[in-house]
Amino acid sequence: NPARKAEWFGHPRQLARLFTTEMWERFGYYGMRALLTLYLTKHFLFSDQTTNGLYGGFTALVYLTPLIGGLIADRYLGSKRSVKFGAIMMSLGYFILCFGGETAKPHAVIDGQRYEVVVENSVDRPTSTGDEVRYVISGQDRLKIQGNDDGTVTLLNGDGSTSRTLAKGAFQADADRSPLFVMIMLIGLSMVCIGNGFFKPNISTMVGSLYDKNDRRRDAGFTIFYMGINLGSLFSQLLCPFLADAVGWWAGFGLAAAGMLFSWSLIQFDGGRLSGYGERPEGADSSKDLFIYIGAAVSVPIAYFLFTNLMNASASAAEAHSIGEYLLGLSVMGKFLFGTFALSVPGILIWAFMNGSRAEFQMMVAAMVLIVFNVVFWTLFEQAGSSLTLFADRNTDLHVLGGFSISAGQTQFFNAIFIVLLAPLFSIMWNALAKRGLEPPIPIKFGLALMGVGAGFLFLVWGTQFAGPDFKVALWWLAGLYLIHSVAELCISPVGLSMITKLSIARIVGMMMGVWFLSISMAQYVGGIVAQVASVETVGGQVTNLQVSLNTYAGVFTTIGWWSVGIGAVLLLLSWPLKYLMHGVK
Ligand code: GLN
Repeated sequence: NPARKAEWFGHPRQLARLFTTEMWERFGYYGMRALLTLYLTKHFLFSDQTTNGLYGGFTALVYLTPLIGGLIADRYLGSKRSVKFGAIMMSLGYFILCFGGETAKPHAVIDGQRYEVVVENSVDRPTSTGDEVRYVISGQDRLKIQGNDDGTVTLLNGDGSTSRTLAKGAFQADADRSPLFVMIMLIGLSMVCIGNGFFKPNISTMVGSLYDKNDRRRDAGFTIFYMGINLGSLFSQLLCPFLADAVGWWAGFGLAAAGMLFSWSLIQFDGGRLSGYGERPEGADSSKDLFIYIGAAVSVPIAYFLFTNLMNASASAAEAHSIGEYLLGLSVMGKFLFGTFALSVPGILIWAFMNGSRAEFQMMVAAMVLIVFNVVFWTLFEQAGSSLTLFADRNTDLHVLGGFSISAGQTQFFNAIFIVLLAPLFSIMWNALAKRGLEPPIPIKFGLALMGVGAGFLFLVWGTQFAGPDFKVALWWLAGLYLIHSVAELCISPVGLSMITKLSIARIVGMMMGVWFLSISMAQYVGGIVAQVASVETVGGQVTNLQVSLNTYAGVFTTIGWWSVGIGAVLLLLSWPLKYLMHGVK
């Protein structure tokens, strides 16, 4: 087959098509992600608790469905059909998010009595560069609501004098929103969960299938692919929030949907470039296809139930006195997810002990240890879409240069641009180090990544002491965090994927990849809980006290930062016994 010989940057030319397909898919996903938490807090006026809960549950499911999507592709559909189907599901999902309905109306309950609240700043825009937020509570004069450190709320008159201070719990803010539009939005997100399950694992498998088993270009191929991911997200993270701001939320989500549709067209009309790749597995025919597609459609309400339930019971997060108490308070789904992960790790190891050689078993143990540490990394890293975006919105001065400012959602693009810039340098660096026999072993890279992701947070916390009188830190502190996080990501994310293929017993490599994704799903879930702990009080989508907000974020970020640095240090110590278990795999 002469087509197989043609090359693209020294790689099989099919990589180009997979690169662009994934680039546009990630364009859609990260464009949507740049808007989501802000959409939930500022359009639907959900509390931080609910927003971070929905976000954590949603992303946990986004990373859980690939387990099933990979399995279905392996057995019935083949990768390519799965990718096409997932692409359609996801673009429909993003499209549905365009229909957010009219703005929710905030209200406050003061001492049991309900008042309408009018927020004088615009609440339907993802930016919050405005100064002070004022509220008009109908039936009372113009008041400013100020949340206090101790949980009490002070109502201030227009001139700044205190009207009265309400005891903790005497003030509750919520909003009247259309249950229909909330439902539509949640259906859209559910479709994204299911669609991603079909798309994400299988496009990666297709990349792998371009290379023979011993082709040394494989790792480099995945690095190029990883750059495609970030190139796509880079542009959408700038454009979607821009459109949401300039035109309306629907335009931002609409662009994500259009990008996703374009991704689909690239694989649907591939001009035969990908024929022979990702086809149906041998022996499988189309008899089950309809059943699978109907099953996927039926799973949409299941996903809806699962992710909206997942974080429900964690409302008591801030009050729990111990991790044990906290775990007991999890929702049914939360316990289920935790349980699945906690049981699958020893379960697979017992299987490996009984079915593999001694060396194979030891390598599997090493892989599992690294997978468990992986949860810690992504728990912190994935705060990008939740607590860090809310931090950007509330406690970051988003001015860049000369009066020009970016929006909170756009700060997510820092990670993508740093990856695009740094990935080539990293691959040159690893190669140069490897030639001198100095390339750090995998556990060391993982340990450094954990310390790095923690250090990123500690860097931002350090910056909070330089916050201005408006309790906002300069944007560069947040950019610095993302720079450190991106360096850390390059030490763990691509490294981890190839580590799985190298350490796993060959027969179950697909399942091990599934466990890798399961660990990321776990991390999204735990990350959602962390973001919930970092919740601050809002009225009509606006924080009631920026100082309390700054302190809350700094407190949570300090805790997770030091934990991650500590756990990373433990991993560095463990790298010696792990090296022994890994039997020469580097
Ligand atoms: N940014 C990468 C992607 O979207 C990795 C994300 C992850 O594995 N958590 O593919």
